[in-house]
Amino acid sequence: MTNEDFIEALSSAGITLTTQQVRQFERYYELLVATNELVNLTAITEKKDVYLKHFYDSLTVAMYEQKLKSSESTLIDIGTGAGFPSLPLKIAFPDLKITMVDALKKRVNFLQEVVDTLDLTGVEIVHGRAEDIGQNPKYRENFDYATARAVARTSVLAEYTLPFVKIGGRFLVMKGSAAHQELLDGQKALAMLGGQINEEFVFTLPNGDQRYIQIVDKKTKTPKKYPRQAGTPSKKPIS
Ligand code: SAH
Repeated sequence: MTNEDFIEALSSAGITLTTQQVRQFERYYELLVATNELVNLTAITEKKDVYLKHFYDSLTVAMYEQKLKSSESTLIDIGTGAGFPSLPLKIAFPDLKITMVDALKKRVNFLQEVVDTLDLTGVEIVHGRAEDIGQNPKYRENFDYATARAVARTSVLAEYTLPFVKIGGRFLVMKGSAAHQELLDGQKALAMLGGQINEEFVFTLPNGDQRYIQIVDKKTKTPKKYPRQAGTPSKKPIS
């Protein structure tokens, strides 16, 4: 998807970018490919692929959770890597307050560089593992939304994300074609951690790839023992 296709597709979805926002995406792309020469950030580097598979794909979540577009909601993005989906959301919806978490210091350094270069405010970058940060009272049950794209299967993701979500908040699951099975496999984990599936959307990206967005409501408090020690959720998912 070219720059123009990106602007056009967003506009059709009711998301209008200003010239400044278009420039911010451009600059983000440049920093991503330049830094990727030195630090492994992404396997996707062709401009048209980055715009479709990273930028546009990240923004699809706001097409199904409309509140992201306009409110000053707080969102934590676990395993954000090079900033997906939270940085495109922040650029497109500047009122959103985002917290980006990643276990890899080199990726966190890159995120800081992007945030400084684009002059973004209302962004916090946290270096660490979700399992450790999820037990920190500063972050625990403190967010309206949690996201995590391409980090783990849903049963594991539930333990990485739900501890951060306030009661009444939502865990926004972004997945490819295995989404439905992962949701079934993750049902026990979601329930145990205080989540309940509310809605599932299936759609295709402009290139025909199938995508799912599942909205999980946080209904009850996450029991204190979760998240378990770093490494345990992925080794022994709740089942
Ligand atoms: N969300 C990005 C990156 C996916 S790669 C995208 O969609 O492109 C997965 C990222 O999750 C990596 O950067 C890895 O360092 C991070 N990660 C994996 N497990 C994690 C954990 N338990 N806590 C924090 N970060 C984690």
